[in-house]
Amino acid sequence: MSALLIDGKARAAALRAEVATGVAAFVAARGRAPGLTVVLVGDDPASAVYVGAKGKACLEVGMISAEHRLPAETAQADLLALIGRLNSDPAVDGILVQMPLPKHIDSDRVIAAIDPGKDVDGFHPVNAGRLAIGQPALVPCTPSGCLLLIREALGDISGAEAVVIGRSSIVGKPMAALLTAASATVTIAHSRTRDLAGHVARADIVVAAVGIPAMVQGHWIKPGACVIDVGINRIALPDGKTRLVGDVDFAAARERAGWITPVPGGVGPMTIACLLANTLSAAQARS
Ligand code: NAD
Repeated sequence: MSALLIDGKARAAALRAEVATGVAAFVAARGRAPGLTVVLVGDDPASAVYVGAKGKACLEVGMISAEHRLPAETAQADLLALIGRLNSDPAVDGILVQMPLPKHIDSDRVIAAIDPGKDVDGFHPVNAGRLAIGQPALVPCTPSGCLLLIREALGDISGAEAVVIGRSSIVGKPMAALLTAASATVTIAHSRTRDLAGHVARADIVVAAVGIPAMVQGHWIKPGACVIDVGINRIALPDGKTRLVGDVDFAAARERAGWITPVPGGVGPMTIACLLANTLSAAQARS
């Protein structure tokens, strides 16, 4: 058996089209477009690429995109003051501070300074808490995207066995909360988990968010399972080039799984699409 590929690019394009329709209705009703402001501190080249991609995606769905690019030596107090101004700016619906921040800045403090209603990354403790207790929240974009892909493959997941590998605040923990809210039976595995293979072997849904190339082995996968690979790892090839791979041994897992996301082209495209959806929701919830 060879698993069906879950096409994240196509699902993300459909979500972006839905958001564009929602933006057009918002503009007609409110006389203004939703606005996302991205703050980038320092000159990390990968972060600059992400920020550029987010701005372009905003414009494509009819939103207003603004960027603040600050020097790496920006004082924490100045960054907090900027966030304060964005919090009270009525034209700003979403605020995203690109991570990682330079070492002299306390990321937790910066995230906590963002108005939870404008926290389109869903990292603010208020949003994390609301998600944990099942209240409406702005939910982190990557796990939101994973849930959409799981639903695309399986539909109703009530009662399904789900194993989430990784317990970070941006992927693993919110993923487990979303799966629990969808009535799956959820196990969170992490670096101290004993017998990871045994947990994965009984999972109808496996979400791997670890950051180790091909650590989830193909023969662990339960036949027919839905495998969502969040990992993005750049590996060196013998010819000196590099290639992106996930956390799952794709070729071997594909032989046993029912559905599987490729890397790239699986979870990745969903993240920005969900950011746009969060920005529209934040705008709709305000004013
Ligand atoms: P993280 O480093 O914050 O967390 C990794 C988690 O893996 C930890 O909870 C740790 O306990 C667990 N872990 C480490 N070794 C393990 C092992 N041997 N067995 C089981 N668990 C183990 O990483 P993160 O920010 O959650 O990201 C995880 C991966 O997802 C990375 O490759 C990252 O690049 C990728 N990512 C992709 C997207 C996307 O849009 N596709 C978004 C965010 C993160």
